[in-house]
Amino acid sequence: MMFLLRSSIGARLRLSYLVLLSLVLVLAAVGLNRLDHLSRALKDVVAEMTQGQARVESINANAEVAARKLLVLIGAPREGRVSAYAAIDAANERLDEAMRALAARSADDELAPDVKAAFADVEQRLADYRSRYAANVDLIEANNVDAARRQLSGDTEAALARLTEALARYSGAEQHALVARSQDVSALAVRDRQIVLGLCIASLLLGLVLAALITRGIVQPLEQTQQGAGRIAAGHYEHRITPCAVKEVDQLGESLNQLAAAVADREAARVHAAETDALTQFARQPRFLREGQALLSQLSHQGRQAMLACLDVDRLKPINALLGFEAGDALFQTLAQRLSAVAPTPAVFGRLSGGAIVALLPLGAQAAESDADAEQPALTSSLQQALELPAEWRGQSFDVSVTVGAAVYPADGAGPQAMGLLLRRAEAAMYAAKRLKVRSLRYDPTWESARASHLSLLSDLRQALAENQLVQVLQPKIDAASGALLGAEALVRWQHPQRGFMSPAEFIPFAESTGRIRDITRWMLRRAITNLAAWQAEGRPGYIGVNISTLDLADADLPAWLAAELAKAGVAPGRLQLEVTESGLMAAGRGPVEVMAALRAIGVSLAIDDFGTGQSSLAYLQKLPVDELKVDRSFVDRVDREPRRQALLQSIIDVGRSLGLTVTAEGVETPEELAVLRRCGADVLQGFLISRPLDEAAYAAWQPRALEAA
Ligand code: C2E
Ligand code: MG
Ligand code: MG
Repeated sequence: MMFLLRSSIGARLRLSYLVLLSLVLVLAAVGLNRLDHLSRALKDVVAEMTQGQARVESINANAEVAARKLLVLIGAPREGRVSAYAAIDAANERLDEAMRALAARSADDELAPDVKAAFADVEQRLADYRSRYAANVDLIEANNVDAARRQLSGDTEAALARLTEALARYSGAEQHALVARSQDVSALAVRDRQIVLGLCIASLLLGLVLAALITRGIVQPLEQTQQGAGRIAAGHYEHRITPCAVKEVDQLGESLNQLAAAVADREAARVHAAETDALTQFARQPRFLREGQALLSQLSHQGRQAMLACLDVDRLKPINALLGFEAGDALFQTLAQRLSAVAPTPAVFGRLSGGAIVALLPLGAQAAESDADAEQPALTSSLQQALELPAEWRGQSFDVSVTVGAAVYPADGAGPQAMGLLLRRAEAAMYAAKRLKVRSLRYDPTWESARASHLSLLSDLRQALAENQLVQVLQPKIDAASGALLGAEALVRWQHPQRGFMSPAEFIPFAESTGRIRDITRWMLRRAITNLAAWQAEGRPGYIGVNISTLDLADADLPAWLAAELAKAGVAPGRLQLEVTESGLMAAGRGPVEVMAALRAIGVSLAIDDFGTGQSSLAYLQKLPVDELKVDRSFVDRVDREPRRQALLQSIIDVGRSLGLTVTAEGVETPEELAVLRRCGADVLQGFLISRPLDEAAYAAWQPRALEAA
């Protein structure tokens, strides 16, 4: 049985057929044997019946023949009796022979006692008949014919009749015994039929059991295998079909397992490729989130904190525009290599669809919150230092700078969705850093409440304009060579009744996205004109530069409105300057150039702000009706410390000068920077070193002090 449950389908079927065939053979042999036995028993009964009958008849007939011959003897002369005696002897011999046969049968122990008794009676009657017969013969030989005749018809005939009766009884007893024998035979037939029937039923049952065992042994594993195949087909490639006792099904299961493993491998490779950024080999966002979440739980078990850094390459657009997209791609590969080399381990890296590189990096123990506060900026600046080494493209070396937004685990986001939160917050920090023009920034929870209240900010802004909550501050601009005050840039501030002082970075982008910026611009322009009118009345020189947004350049009424305002106040248009950012100009397309030309036509001067961060070509710049280039702060930053930066700054200043424009450097913070700027030939300087933005009264009292360059 165990063999049946453990072997192959072929072996099971062969064994089962063998067992069934053997059973059929045994059945046939037993059946034939019983049939043979029965027919022999039946033949015996019939033979005994006919033989017994024949012997009795032979005794009877020969006894009668002998009696008839007595009549012949009585009637024949002595010499004529010879043939009669011969006939009598022959009859007696046949009679004896039959008697001997009966006697032999009577000796059989199994013979019924009735038959034996009847035979003994026959023997006795025969002896009696024979003695009477002999007496009769004696009378004949003595020629006593009459006595012989009397004897014959009397004694002898009577003895013969008794013998005949005894023979009839014997025959009856014999028949009786044979009937009993035949009953035995039919009982035997019944028993044999039962045996054969039993064997038939037993084979049938055995056949059924074998069929059930084989079916169960094959169908069950097949069903299991089919279910397993179904699970694999449904995408559970890790599922394995368990081995079973049926060899063929086992082989099938093994093949399916191999297939599932191969599909799983290929699927994993496909998913990996789909989840990997081809350029940097860093994870795309979904995988980054998944692997980051795993790393977070590992770190939190060790009681450690982590930083999610979002790194954006500054001035990527000019790099792509000037050196080609391959240069930008190569830069990302270089940055990825540098980052992987210097990042603390274990770390997870990713690249977002927007291009920013992200990294989840371990910090120290969670115990002291202040640790992360100190460690995060240190790690950020060490990463920046490592990444901001110059890069090279086809022999040309160029500067690299990255802005970093950071969020710290668990302070800035924890729980099962921590990675999603941290990523969003690090990204927000990165954008805020760009907006505020700082190199790196950590996420600040107060931003959330600021964002939540953006809606109310919209109505607040309307109110701010109506209730004069806006303030104009002025940042002095001086002549680089002489240090003389030339004028100021007007910058907006918002003294919010609830939120307190708000920097333009907090509401200008919002005002731009809601269209409210046009009102701010007109408010700032009116305020500047009012100041200029006052200066004019006092006989003070100087101009004011007002920042205008791209949306203002789509405002075709602006030139006429501005001309009317200037005329109304009696201010010379040449004392007003308008600053438009380079990136804003590039994003706006063709239309702005016409509005700029119209503005210039009324006599105001125009400056391109934050120059160097956009991607305008020299050819495009030449067509713009502008007077001044304001080189972006990022080019001034650390210019004294890195010769390469100085070369870049120099080339930007040269571009401005070659176009006949006044070149202003923004964000001058140190005497060293001032010295470099002077050397490079910047015309105008602006920055905290000269002065922070001042309110109107402070500006009126401000005097340029002697600036000593380092
Ligand atoms: P911007 O036009 O490039 O203005 C210069 C910004 O650099 C000002 O920041 C100024 O305070 C800051 N700054 C000046 N010198 C230094 C320095 O030495 N070091 C550093 N780190 N920063 C310096 P502010 O006032 O926060 O303005 C930021 C930006 O907001 C401005 O950049 C301008 O794009 C925008 N903005 C400000 N006021 C207005 C406005 O009235 N209208 C429009 N449309 N935009 C404005
Ligand atoms: Mg400006
Ligand atoms: Mg600027």
